Amino acid sequence: MSTMRRHDTIYAVVGSPEARDVVTAPAEKYAARRMRSEAQESRTSFFCSIAVGGCGSKLKLAAGDMRIPYFSHAPQAVCDLSDATARDGYTHLAIQEELKRWIEGTTSLRCDLEVATSDRKGRSDLVVRDAEDTHRLGLEIQLSPLTHAEMQRRSNIYLKCMNHVQWLYGHEEIQACRSQVERGGYAFRVRIDMETKECDLGYFGFHGGGSLQTAWRPLRDWIVRRNGLYSPSIKSVLEEAKAKAEIEHASKPKPPPETYQSIYTGLSEEYGSVLTAEYAAVRERVIAAIYRSARKGQLDESTAVELLVWLRDLTKHSAWWRRQLLGPGRKGPEIVIRVLEVYRSQKQ
Ligand SMILES: [Zn+2]
Repeated sequence: MSTMRRHDTIYAVVGSPEARDVVTAPAEKYAARRMRSEAQESRTSFFCSIAVGGCGSKLKLAAGDMRIPYFSHAPQAVCDLSDATARDGYTHLAIQEELKRWIEGTTSLRCDLEVATSDRKGRSDLVVRDAEDTHRLGLEIQLSPLTHAEMQRRSNIYLKCMNHVQWLYGHEEIQACRSQVERGGYAFRVRIDMETKECDLGYFGFHGGGSLQTAWRPLRDWIVRRNGLYSPSIKSVLEEAKAKAEIEHASKPKPPPETYQSIYTGLSEEYGSVLTAEYAAVRERVIAAIYRSARKGQLDESTAVELLVWLRDLTKHSAWWRRQLLGPGRKGPEIVIRVLEVYRSQKQ
């Protein structure tokens, strides 16, 4: 199968360049030809979406024998939309539409899309409000990387004209998403099947076994509350995720015996890549104290391994680390003594 030329995409919107109804070219050519003839019969056309930054020109659904079906621009069209931007943009658009359809179809709430913020510098993805407009909930769909600081900055802007803001993350690696788990124990995830438009919301957090997991549920298993989205089946969601984590944990081959050095390096890198600098620094001080004590021979290696493994699986917030493990201790040995005390008291 050949790769796509520039100006070719598998996504389009239907009816007009400003339309928000996203369609995906079916991968199967007969299904694509069917979609094309149905569009012709109903005199509708496909367009490159302006909402996602496309050129707005009319697209043709190509469904030949050689290539997988795609929407093609006219040869003279000038379009800056890259594959990655198109994918994220159309996905974002489709999720917005599905959430709106679901909220308005299952509640008496109103849902507006792309609402300008009071400073006019930004737009909120979805604003959910009651009939009297006494309470507003903002839903933000985040598919691209975002730092915790930027998420907070934007939230503060949104909160000037809303009562609550809830972020729905497309990827669990997004720093702001990790950061929310760190603070509150969980973050919300969102995903959509671009062909069927089935949308799921997920609950991302520590669900057991010390690993981060997302537990997904279809929209029908969620309800919209004043403060945000909520799944009444959250208990079973968590139990399911915990069972999944335990199965994964049990099926993992036993790793070779670890050294305090390798655990320290691994943890250090992990903290640096997924946590904010502030959170990473708190943990780094604790694990570095253990590492250095072991190097100097003040702590035997097997105890250092035991402590680091315990810390690796610990699902406590950074505030807890700071209070319980760092305490007022400034020097490495003081920190190690504290960690040992807490470790022993928890093991009893
Ligand atoms: Zn275009």
